[in-house]
Amino acid sequence: MDPVVIVGGGPAGAMCGGILAKHGVDVVLLEKARHPRPHLGESLQPAGIDLLEEHLGVGDAIAAAGYAHKFGAVYVWGEAREPWSILFDERLEACVDTITEEELLASDFEKAWQVNRSSFDKILFDAAVRLGVDARTDTEARSVQLVDGRVQSVTTGDGTVIPCSFLIDASGQRCLMGRTLGVVETIEDLRSVGVYGYFRNAGGVPGALNRHVQFVATVPEGWIWFIPISAELTSIGLVTRTARKHSEEEFLDILRRSPIPLEGGELIEHEGQSRVLHAKDWSYVCTQLVGENFALVGDAACFVDPILSGGVDQAVRSGANAAVALLQAIDGGDARTPLAEYSAQLGREFRSYLRMCRYWYGNNRAVDGFFWEAHEQLGAASPSTPLRAFVYLTSGRYAADRHLQVFMEWQEKKMFEALGVDPDQLGQVLADRRNQ
Ligand SMILES: Cc1cc2nc3c(=O)[nH]c(=O)nc-3n(C[C@H](O)[C@H](O)[C@H](O)COP(=O)(O)OP(=O)(O)OC[C@H]3O[C@@H](n4cnc5c(N)ncnc54)[C@H](O)[C@@H]3O)c2cc1C
Repeated sequence: MDPVVIVGGGPAGAMCGGILAKHGVDVVLLEKARHPRPHLGESLQPAGIDLLEEHLGVGDAIAAAGYAHKFGAVYVWGEAREPWSILFDERLEACVDTITEEELLASDFEKAWQVNRSSFDKILFDAAVRLGVDARTDTEARSVQLVDGRVQSVTTGDGTVIPCSFLIDASGQRCLMGRTLGVVETIEDLRSVGVYGYFRNAGGVPGALNRHVQFVATVPEGWIWFIPISAELTSIGLVTRTARKHSEEEFLDILRRSPIPLEGGELIEHEGQSRVLHAKDWSYVCTQLVGENFALVGDAACFVDPILSGGVDQAVRSGANAAVALLQAIDGGDARTPLAEYSAQLGREFRSYLRMCRYWYGNNRAVDGFFWEAHEQLGAASPSTPLRAFVYLTSGRYAADRHLQVFMEWQEKKMFEALGVDPDQLGQVLADRRNQ
């Protein structure tokens, strides 16, 4: 049988490929660059890190890489210029004003990381290779050959034709399949650009949180992210609707007038890139997320403005969800139902995230409004308070819990099948086990 071909070796492709290879699927992954390579999108969410540990076993490698801890985010947003925060761990809310930085770093409070994406993506990519993915770097997928809606093969930059049984498009904002099918739809009200750079020796927020949070502040030109990615290095960027190149002086001037703790931070060249960098930051969605034998994951499927820092989280979760859907399809001999469920789930997550994002931009007055919006979206599944509902939804925990449940059910089914449980009785056995 032809292999599953994955285009793109970022977080979505590595996660999807790693899971498939771990469960015995023959996977070829094509990556046009070579890791480590620079990438934007450094502030992560805790649930995505947990999924990476669960499937790729990279928790210790991430913890040992010297990245900045992220216990939550501090905002100066809206009319009131007083900073307010969102913390992943409810217990930290009670003591954040009294805890010392040493105690915070030694604690077991829920956290994520803010990472250097070049080394972070390499950790994930290498893990996928260790799990058995046949990864080919410096190899660009140029085109996809489709016959009657089925992908037959992928042609690389040097003209090699790779036949495939299934295609996963994880090509990020290149959207290889989305463009091939002509289904990429831009979200017109969320067209921005990112102007950013890397600073040595910038400061942190007051108190124990110091450099262990993401800091976000609005300015007349848009909003600024301040993301420490190690003890010394900080990624700082402006998200603005002004779609033109900013000079270094212009960029620095906006930062100096903002409330971010730039302090003695020095703008440097990072990993061979210019000091001031520009990125397209348009939100979009592919109106077709799956086909007979293909699925789109991560940014290749959709992207929502980075205000809630959910891009990598969405990438690893959709990569994982697509892998489980494909495993279910291989077991059941029919891809339609699992792929339709994958597509419906990703569509729901995209719409929910887009709604939160629009609400965020639209609500310039009452901070509580964001939390009530999340509380309403979660309905019966909502945790104790609107603030906790907001954290549960935007930290990716809500969607990751669902993924883990589907994955666990697939694993249980496989286990009972291996034990020889009669297929007709399997449904009852699984239901009994869940009720135990
Ligand atoms: C301004 C801005 C700020 C952001 N900030 C954050 C943030 O703070 N936190 C966060 O979580 N997210 C953030 N994001 C989003 C984040 O960068 C992405 O959501 C995330 O990287 C998506 O992962 P992915 O694996 O889908 O794609 P990518 O990480 O882009 O990986 C795609 C890979 O595919 C490869 N590729 C592309 N085309 C081909 C091809 N034809 N053949 C072979 N290989 C190919 C590329 O080289 C790349 O390695 C931000 C995005 C922007 C624009």
